[in-house]
Amino acid sequence: MGKKVVAVLNRKCSVCGRPLKIKVFEDGTYEGGHYFGSLKEAMIELGLYNPDVPDEEYEYWECNQCYMKYADEKHDLM
Ligand SMILES: [Zn+2]
Repeated sequence: MGKKVVAVLNRKCSVCGRPLKIKVFEDGTYEGGHYFGSLKEAMIELGLYNPDVPDEEYEYWECNQCYMKYADEKHDLM
Protein backbone atom coordinates (compact mmCIF):
# COMPACT_ATOMS: atom_id res chain seq x y z
CA MET A 1 0.00 0.00 0.00
CA GLY A 2 1.55 3.32 -1.06
CA LYS A 3 1.62 6.41 1.07
CA LYS A 4 -0.22 9.47 -0.14
CA VAL A 5 1.93 12.33 -1.47
CA VAL A 6 0.76 15.62 0.05
CA ALA A 7 3.34 17.95 -1.51
CA VAL A 8 6.08 18.02 -4.09
CA LEU A 9 8.91 20.46 -3.40
CA ASN A 10 11.38 21.69 -5.97
CA ARG A 11 14.77 22.10 -4.33
CA LYS A 12 18.34 21.77 -5.42
CA CYS A 13 21.30 19.92 -4.04
CA SER A 14 23.46 22.30 -1.98
CA VAL A 15 26.57 20.39 -3.02
CA CYS A 16 26.29 19.82 -6.79
CA GLY A 17 23.28 21.99 -7.71
CA ARG A 18 21.32 19.10 -9.18
CA PRO A 19 17.55 19.81 -9.13
CA LEU A 20 15.65 17.74 -6.60
CA LYS A 21 11.99 16.83 -6.64
CA ILE A 22 11.04 16.07 -3.06
CA LYS A 23 7.88 14.08 -2.47
CA VAL A 24 6.37 14.69 0.97
CA PHE A 25 4.05 11.99 2.28
CA GLU A 26 1.05 12.32 4.57
CA ASP A 27 3.01 10.90 7.51
CA GLY A 28 5.66 13.63 7.23
CA THR A 29 8.34 11.50 5.60
CA TYR A 30 9.84 12.45 2.26
CA GLU A 31 11.91 11.01 -0.53
CA GLY A 32 13.99 12.38 -3.39
CA GLY A 33 16.70 14.01 -1.31
CA HIS A 34 18.19 14.45 2.14
CA TYR A 35 17.32 17.50 4.21
CA PHE A 36 19.80 18.75 6.82
CA GLY A 37 17.99 21.86 7.99
CA SER A 38 17.94 25.55 7.21
CA LEU A 39 21.05 27.71 7.20
CA LYS A 40 18.98 30.88 7.63
CA GLU A 41 19.60 31.31 11.37
CA ALA A 42 23.32 30.82 10.90
CA MET A 43 23.38 33.29 8.01
CA ILE A 44 21.55 35.90 10.08
CA GLU A 45 24.09 35.43 12.87
CA LEU A 46 26.97 35.80 10.42
CA GLY A 47 25.35 38.87 8.87
CA LEU A 48 25.20 37.11 5.51
CA TYR A 49 21.43 36.80 5.33
CA ASN A 50 19.87 38.46 2.31
CA PRO A 51 16.10 39.05 2.74
CA ASP A 52 15.69 39.16 -1.06
CA VAL A 53 16.66 35.49 -1.26
CA PRO A 54 13.73 33.13 -0.62
CA ASP A 55 13.96 31.09 2.61
CA GLU A 56 14.04 27.81 0.71
CA GLU A 57 17.36 28.87 -0.84
CA TYR A 58 18.81 28.64 2.67
CA GLU A 59 17.67 25.08 3.14
CA TYR A 60 20.48 22.57 2.96
CA TRP A 61 19.66 19.58 0.77
CA GLU A 62 21.79 16.84 -0.66
CA CYS A 63 20.88 14.61 -3.59
CA ASN A 64 21.23 10.86 -3.17
CA GLN A 65 24.58 10.83 -4.98
CA CYS A 66 26.16 13.49 -2.77
CA TYR A 67 24.64 11.92 0.31
CA MET A 68 26.11 8.54 -0.59
CA LYS A 69 29.47 10.10 -1.45
CA TYR A 70 29.54 11.87 1.89
CA ALA A 71 28.51 8.69 3.68
CA ASP A 72 31.37 6.84 1.94
CA GLU A 73 33.92 9.49 2.91
CA LYS A 74 32.67 9.42 6.46
CA HIS A 75 32.91 5.67 6.43
CA ASP A 76 36.53 5.87 5.20
CA LEU A 77 37.48 8.00 8.19
CA MET A 78 36.21 5.43 10.65
ZN1 LIG B 1 24.32 16.59 -5.20
